[in-house]
Amino acid sequence: MHVAGRFVAEVLSEVGLLAEVGVNLLDLEHHVRGMIKRCGAESCYWDYAPSFGRGPFRNVICLSVNDAVLHGLPHDYTLRDGDVLSADLAVRVNGWVADSARTIVVGTAVEEDLRIIRATEEALEAAIEVARPGNRLGDISAAIWAVANDYGYPVNTEFGGHGIGRTMHEDPHVSNKGRAGRGLTLRPGLTLALEPWFARTTDRIVYDADGWTIRSADGSRTAHSEHTIAITEDAPLVLTRREQEDPVTRGDSASRLSTKDA
Ligand code: MG
Ligand code: MG
Repeated sequence: MHVAGRFVAEVLSEVGLLAEVGVNLLDLEHHVRGMIKRCGAESCYWDYAPSFGRGPFRNVICLSVNDAVLHGLPHDYTLRDGDVLSADLAVRVNGWVADSARTIVVGTAVEEDLRIIRATEEALEAAIEVARPGNRLGDISAAIWAVANDYGYPVNTEFGGHGIGRTMHEDPHVSNKGRAGRGLTLRPGLTLALEPWFARTTDRIVYDADGWTIRSADGSRTAHSEHTIAITEDAPLVLTRREQEDPVTRGDSASRLSTKDA
């Protein structure tokens, strides 16, 4: 899972570098397809067909813009200045899966967008911090919920984190809202995808006509942060940690790209 995790981290770093004003979501999708193919990995989204959704998902990455937050279907859309982009990727490498998501602002950021992104990132770190043997699943949910409360964001309980391993979605469900001291006792070897996501002013969601893309019901902007972790005897291992957990805003893209090329 560490191998899969490192690859997912690398792809999400790359998406962060490429997602600039004027770039089409389909360009990002195709770029990621190429990376997956070259690595010999397999996207868990390709042909994904859960009870919701309209037919199998025929893309390799979820790209959700602004009020879209989960399962964003890559489509013909050109990124604009100030867009909030969430990218969510799960792949299988050698039979093991890792799943991670990040949210960035394309171009010029406004403070309220940075704030909600920061909230999901802090909630994720708080959740990881309590993912230790002897603690309970409810401690993770409570940690996420507490950060959301501090920031004043409501929390939806329909979609949250999950167990992960041979497949993308395994038991247990990890709610983003819950009570400390309740639920499954955590033990070494348990691997989880933790994924706080919030919308600014609602906990309700609506689906696009594509049957996949999930948006905030009131159109308010959203953010989503996710890592795959392994619980150990000691501190939890973050299997999808990016080498540089880059800032959420894109600076001067030209200089960034030249830095990368160097
Ligand atoms: Mg994910
Ligand atoms: Mg997930």
